Amino acid sequence: MDPTPFFRDRAETPNIKTPELPEWVRGKRRIRLARAKARAWAQNPIDRLDAHRHLRKAQIVLLARTGGQAGADGTVSLAKAARTSPVVTYLSAGADFVLTLNGDQWPQMPKAARLALLDHELSHCGVTISYKHVPEATLAAFVERLGELHVETRTDDRDSDGAPLVRWIKTADGKPVWRIRRHDVECFAGVVRRWGLWLPSLGALAAAMDEHATAGGGLFAEPADESAGEARRGLGEGGDESVPQMTQIAAE
Ligand SMILES: [Zn+2]
Repeated sequence: MDPTPFFRDRAETPNIKTPELPEWVRGKRRIRLARAKARAWAQNPIDRLDAHRHLRKAQIVLLARTGGQAGADGTVSLAKAARTSPVVTYLSAGADFVLTLNGDQWPQMPKAARLALLDHELSHCGVTISYKHVPEATLAAFVERLGELHVETRTDDRDSDGAPLVRWIKTADGKPVWRIRRHDVECFAGVVRRWGLWLPSLGALAAAMDEHATAGGGLFAEPADESAGEARRGLGEGGDESVPQMTQIAAE
């Protein structure tokens, strides 16, 4: 995918709010609103990617946090997505999600990685899907009633009476019912090394990597554990890849 349009600056970010949030400082830790460029880069995927189309109805606050520490297992988090906390809801007049960037790591990340990180965090901003089998005779009226929000009719999925499945975004008071989406792939590299693609979601990940490579995209993430893995393998009997690295980089 050509990343150029995703790096465009813009004055208006209809889904990335710019509330008057005071800076929050405690010791070395500081949380503030992310800068205009990051906010623009978060808006661009919402406008350009079908995968984030539902977020055109969302209000998102993008924050940057500095002075944080690695987690208890040594993990450095690059960002985190969450539903709004009561405090942020109060300060920002009702945002639906808060995305918090690691403000120490962000400036050091390659541009393409920053874009992928924002895409990742936006992918956590999900909606609740409802579904029901609807008789053909009433299908058109039913779909019409659901309005402009994304509706999908699955003619390949019918009940015993032949009624196709209809899936749609659930709403309350005219707004989508938001939820945090989990990662669709959770894995340990060591398990894949030993057992291969043992879950369907891992096969989907491998297929996605092939598609990306076929489209001419390079992988910008070096396999982080190669040298560390070598070092570990030298330590014990055959090594143990399940020993955590001292520093892991993660996107929550
Ligand atoms: Zn994540």
